[in-house]
Amino acid sequence: MPFSGSFAPTSAFALPTVLLIEDDPLFAELVEGFLEAGAGSGLAGEAAGFRVLRAATLEQGLAVLSGVVNGADDTAPVSGGADVVLLDLSLGDSDGLATLDAVIGHAPGVPVVVLTGDASERMALQAVRKGAQDYLVKADVRPVSLRRALLYALERRSTLTALLQAGSAVSGLLDSLNAAAAVIEAHRDSSGTVTGFVWCLGNGGCQRLLGLDVAAVEGRPLTDTLPWYGDSGLPAALARVADGYGDLDRELEVTIAGQTCWLHVSAVRLAGGRLDSGRLAVTLEDITERYQHQERLRFLATRDPLTGLPNRTLFQDHLEEAVSRAERGSQRAAVLYIDLDHFKTINDTMGHSTGDRVLQDVARRLEALSPPDAFISHLSGDEFAVLLPRVSDEAEVTAAASSVLKHLELPFVIDGREIFTSGSIGVVLYPDSARNSNGLMRNVDAAVHHAKRQGRNTYSVYSEHLSHEMVRRLHLETGLRRALERGEMRVVFQPKMDLATGTVSGAEALLRWDSPDLGAVSPAEFIPVAEDSGLIIPIGEWVLEEVCRWLARWNRQGRKPVRVAVNLSARQFRDPLLVDRVKAIVAAAGVPARQLEFELTESVLVENAAEATKALWALRGLGVTLSVDDFGTGYSSLSYLKRFPIDALKIDQSFVRDLPDSSDDKAIVRAIILMGRSLDLALVAEGVETQAQADFLQANRCDYAQGYLFARPISGADFEDFVSGCDTELELDVV
Ligand code: C2E
Ligand code: MG
Ligand code: MG
Repeated sequence: MPFSGSFAPTSAFALPTVLLIEDDPLFAELVEGFLEAGAGSGLAGEAAGFRVLRAATLEQGLAVLSGVVNGADDTAPVSGGADVVLLDLSLGDSDGLATLDAVIGHAPGVPVVVLTGDASERMALQAVRKGAQDYLVKADVRPVSLRRALLYALERRSTLTALLQAGSAVSGLLDSLNAAAAVIEAHRDSSGTVTGFVWCLGNGGCQRLLGLDVAAVEGRPLTDTLPWYGDSGLPAALARVADGYGDLDRELEVTIAGQTCWLHVSAVRLAGGRLDSGRLAVTLEDITERYQHQERLRFLATRDPLTGLPNRTLFQDHLEEAVSRAERGSQRAAVLYIDLDHFKTINDTMGHSTGDRVLQDVARRLEALSPPDAFISHLSGDEFAVLLPRVSDEAEVTAAASSVLKHLELPFVIDGREIFTSGSIGVVLYPDSARNSNGLMRNVDAAVHHAKRQGRNTYSVYSEHLSHEMVRRLHLETGLRRALERGEMRVVFQPKMDLATGTVSGAEALLRWDSPDLGAVSPAEFIPVAEDSGLIIPIGEWVLEEVCRWLARWNRQGRKPVRVAVNLSARQFRDPLLVDRVKAIVAAAGVPARQLEFELTESVLVENAAEATKALWALRGLGVTLSVDDFGTGYSSLSYLKRFPIDALKIDQSFVRDLPDSSDDKAIVRAIILMGRSLDLALVAEGVETQAQADFLQANRCDYAQGYLFARPISGADFEDFVSGCDTELELDVV
């Protein structure tokens, strides 16, 4: 539409007046700059600029609109408000669509362009539906788009007059047959038969939009020309306009030409403001293109472009709907929240484009296996959700979850390569798991976390117990954030014994946290929380520094050198700065790297195979020793481990516990020792508590043992005494 500048500014100034209601002073400054006369204008022939009034709150804005006070720029006197309002929907004193309602309610004749942050584009579309002329996303505001939107808004408001002369839309005047309101009220129930208004004047647009030429339109009741007239509540609305209650703006479908139009109706007034006996001015503006553009935006705003599935926003809407339907009926609703396991590994090792294709295939699989009324959504990254709006019981939902797991386990074939993944699924039911959709999403999160902690490739149905677990985790995380600086952490040392000589060969450093609020928390509980929150990085660094401080002290004391093992969790191991950090810490402490050992679990190695090899070689290059912790609990084979530069295996305590009674465990431990030896690895048994266990291990040529039989984890000072009491094995040629 051309910007023909046919509106007349309300102020005495030649420039149109924009009232900017915006609480962010920086952004307001920016906008004002954009709107200054001639600034940044790329539009030939457009108005030179705008006069800007500023208001920082809704209240101020409304006052300016009433012409009660000046704008924030009080050098500019205001007479009679503004020509157009540029409105931030979230202000200090008002938020969302209510802000728009207030402005429109206050100054119905003044067009409004809405400003919005990215996240609320959806709300902006609603705003347009509610009567805003247009909207702008703040991050995208440019001088040209801003000026164009404002001019467009001004133009649209003035189309009534403009289009009466132009031929581009249907415009005309309607005469009410009777004193409208009473008649229409009387006919309200006989739907479709309301006599309504009769055209008394039309223009050239009638032909295109109504299929009637100007001559034919005259004398026709509106009922005839607009098929939806009778059942749209329009008669009553027209009656209100005719009675002088204000204009009518509504979007509607005109079926004749398959076009979407905007109907604008206003009462015709005679000089002096008197109503012209129920006479109405009507404009039907063809907004099809704009409407389609908005529909497209709406579509894009609710779809994930990668998989084509509805996104989280649309999912939330559907969930709310399902919840309110379930509330009224006897059925339940359920959500399966699916998080792919180790998806990062696929991305990292095979590239993001392969990862993307796996996600697309997951989407298709979910679609194929879900019932027709299921609503499937791609929430983000590797997270999907399936909403089952009508289920009868939990068994039905868990059967669906099992089926999803089964289908995710099947290989994905991408470019001829088979890729394997699996999922962790959280399950919630309405009304069993929460009272509303927000509660459901919160609790399904807890259920997914639980499924992950259960070892993945499984589902977990939400229960109250999980919620307590979440709260506890939250407390732990909050506490952990302050634990280091408050000196609540300490490192203890558990001696590691040489079974052949009975001497101390080293120690494992274990972290202890004495929280003033939670008491002594086991690392088995807080380390995973530290992992998830990333706090493990600073904490792990501190452990290493602490261990090096003790090692340096023992070296200074001229003791026989010991090697101390430090546990490394997955997150630490993936940290690209790990090697540099270790190097810097040992250098600063003046401790030979040889005196350090790192313990990693099998899963840490296997899940990051490619990176792991590199990182391990780099650590090895520093002189650090490496061992596999909790060996036997993971899923790696010994031959697989051969590819890593590993020095030792620590046989998990679960195999040691029932020695020597359990024949199974005896066989397993023997096999691990034999295979480990064949790969030239040292063997360490964990959790040795009895002499019988130690005897069995020694008889089977296990090299080292660690456990309560010899010593519990003890402070550094106690470790000094412990070592002094035994003879340290001289195995390191250091210092
Ligand atoms: P882990 O590395 O397998 O450590 C061995 C665990 O077994 C320790 O539990 C230790 O106290 C316990 N233990 C030792 N001897 C015996 C015994 O004879 N019987 C029994 N029943 N248990 C024994 P802790 O200290 O609670 O540590 C648990 C886990 O927390 C560790 O398992 C390790 O994975 C992790 N962890 C501890 N400290 C750190 C740390 O500084 N950094 C990281 N990343 N993880 C740590
Ligand atoms: Mg360990
Ligand atoms: Mg262990």
